[in-house]
Amino acid sequence: VKISEIFGPTIQGEGAAAGRHCLFVRLALCNLECAWCDTPYTWAYTPEKASKLAIPVVHDRDENTRDMTAAMIIEELCRLWPMRVMPTMVVISGGEPLMQQNDLIVLTAMLRQYGHDVHIETAGTLKPSTSLDDLVSQYNVSPKLAHSGNVESKRIKPEVLKFFAGNYKTWFKFVVKNTLDLVEIEQLVKEYHIRPSRVMVMPEGVTIDDNISVARDVVDEAIKLGFGLTFRSHILLWKDVRGK
Ligand code: SF4
Repeated sequence: VKISEIFGPTIQGEGAAAGRHCLFVRLALCNLECAWCDTPYTWAYTPEKASKLAIPVVHDRDENTRDMTAAMIIEELCRLWPMRVMPTMVVISGGEPLMQQNDLIVLTAMLRQYGHDVHIETAGTLKPSTSLDDLVSQYNVSPKLAHSGNVESKRIKPEVLKFFAGNYKTWFKFVVKNTLDLVEIEQLVKEYHIRPSRVMVMPEGVTIDDNISVARDVVDEAIKLGFGLTFRSHILLWKDVRGK
């Protein structure tokens, strides 16, 4: 598995499991190029890729990726937390972790054997295989809206969205900048039969002020539409520090 970083223990900062104790396994590589991506070190390894970012910084691939087996990942997690005796939640994030989904089956099976909940964070453009799906505890699916800068054909994959909308393990999370984004979300919710009660909106931004001001701007409209709201708690608690 191409790993970008492994860290914890910490709390899940975002989405339906926000606040839960967890360990993070962040995979490298992504099939999208969001202008406001907060983890560009997982994929912006060439000038061409980095040019898609609002702040176009090229990240060093060798410094930011490691090839690790499932056993090596477990060993590293054990150094961070007594995970063989104290099960917690392991969040497999990215990048886009489902790009490497075949290589995640052994790791996920081992984590489940130790009693951990395994959450997968994905942009919802790739469908998990049945073998992986059987092992996953929860999906945090974050489809990207127009303001991400990705063309629609890349960021919206109808068959994949229908799969996640029909999967009881899925929670959706949409990054929003203002109330206009809620119109776009409402259309997606209707088109793909997503249950509004499984939708959370999350302010874009890596500062406390941005988080609070966008949240105040959108919360009333989100409630009217049946959506929840999630902050980026890790930003509120630790600002934008990597590894938290
Ligand atoms: S899908 Fe996620 S990791 Fe990939 S570019 Fe967008 S925000 Fe970044």
